[in-house]
Amino acid sequence: MVMMMMMTTKSMAREEVEKRKYDIAVVGGGPAGLSAAWAAAKAGASVILFEKDEAIAHSVRTSGVSWIDSMDALGIPSRLYNPISSYRFVSPANEVMITGSSPRSCVLDVRATYQHLAFMAAEAGAEIMVRSNVINIEKDENGKVVGVKVSTPEGDLGISCHLLIDASGFSTSAARRAGMAGEWKRYGAGAEYECYCDHANSAIWTLMVGQQYSQAGYAWVFPLSENRVRIGVGIGRPESQADPLDRLHDILKRRLKPLDQLGKIQPIELHYGFIPNEGTRPTTVADGLLLVGDSAGQANPLVLEGIRYAIEFGRLAGQVGARSLGVGATRESLLEYEKAWKSKVGSKIASALKVQSRWIGLSDEEWDREIEVLRDMSADEFVDFVKAEFTTTKMMKLALHHPKLAARQLFNMVLKS
Ligand SMILES: Cc1cc2nc3c(=O)[nH]c(=O)nc-3n(C[C@H](O)[C@H](O)[C@H](O)COP(=O)(O)OP(=O)(O)OC[C@H]3O[C@@H](n4cnc5c(N)ncnc54)[C@H](O)[C@@H]3O)c2cc1C
Repeated sequence: MVMMMMMTTKSMAREEVEKRKYDIAVVGGGPAGLSAAWAAAKAGASVILFEKDEAIAHSVRTSGVSWIDSMDALGIPSRLYNPISSYRFVSPANEVMITGSSPRSCVLDVRATYQHLAFMAAEAGAEIMVRSNVINIEKDENGKVVGVKVSTPEGDLGISCHLLIDASGFSTSAARRAGMAGEWKRYGAGAEYECYCDHANSAIWTLMVGQQYSQAGYAWVFPLSENRVRIGVGIGRPESQADPLDRLHDILKRRLKPLDQLGKIQPIELHYGFIPNEGTRPTTVADGLLLVGDSAGQANPLVLEGIRYAIEFGRLAGQVGARSLGVGATRESLLEYEKAWKSKVGSKIASALKVQSRWIGLSDEEWDREIEVLRDMSADEFVDFVKAEFTTTKMMKLALHHPKLAARQLFNMVLKS
């Protein structure tokens, strides 16, 4: 009898969900999806977000480096990150330290930050379902996306919506199922341990370049405190098929510089992920569908950072998405979103890709010389550079042919503008 009642209650609850329609469904509970859900709910839309993992930020797939001014502008509280003021570069036979007087970069407590974004979305009225994998897309006879099928702890649910936001990250799983996007051909694969260590300088992050660290990419030490660091390796595909986790184990085993200065290193968490590295998707809107965050290719390829853009453009996606509901969330009504984000970062991403493609092919000796370019830079100039805060393609062409001269010209231009 009790069992019967439980079953009835469960199936009633499920029926209720199945019958419900939402204005907007969001695939993915990363920074892009959570920010889109927040903005859309705040604008008055009914919103449901699905995250396939059992918790928001259950699997961390990022190193969490960002910029304090960007976090301030986005309203991310300073208790959620460790400030960084100095930047160190290690190549096989060279080393450069750029010392800043005040912190401009930061290393995020990723789990706490994403859960903060989730609380914001929930408070604004968005529903969130975890361990809920979007497994299919429904279209109407005109090809407009009108719903999703989701595998949830309550069973498989069919949800209808006027707009689907694909914030599924690298996998672009919803838009691929809808036939709107293909697989990424160029991308980075990264493996990282979050570790206890005896002593790290919590104000300095370190990038390590050269073959012994990564055949096509770089390695890093990003501190969260004096005793907690993220040590990782990123490798570019298709240039190398090496597994970043193998490389990471090798670096840890050999305690390559600067790991030799950290005392005892004890991994406590493994992070593994992929990031697109071929520029922006040509199309990020369709009838009833919008792509945001990594699924749209919005990350800065120079140092593969995309969290700030995922939050910023997630909010834009939610706002424009909510506005588009009045006219049926058509492609035309969503184009405003695509135009706005591409005009902000499209050319920066294209220029950064050129610098990155130069860096990915450097030999050890070339890296030893290349990092000398950085020695002349102030911390502010350096941060502007890695943030890809430059505007003209002309400067990037100079950077390719005369890096040292070009770096100066580039920063003079940025600082004067
Ligand atoms: C190794 C590595 C290091 C990085 N380091 C940095 C860094 O230091 N700083 C920085 O700013 N950026 C960094 N990035 C990039 C950054 O992580 C991404 O740009 C950012 O996470 C993009 O956010 P997103 O919300 O678009 O995607 P994600 O954060 O990937 O979130 C997508 C979410 O969608 C969920 N999902 C996927 N498919 C489905 C489905 N079918 N149904 C339901 N849920 C689904 C996933 O589980 C995931 O939670 C790094 C990336 C990698 C791989």
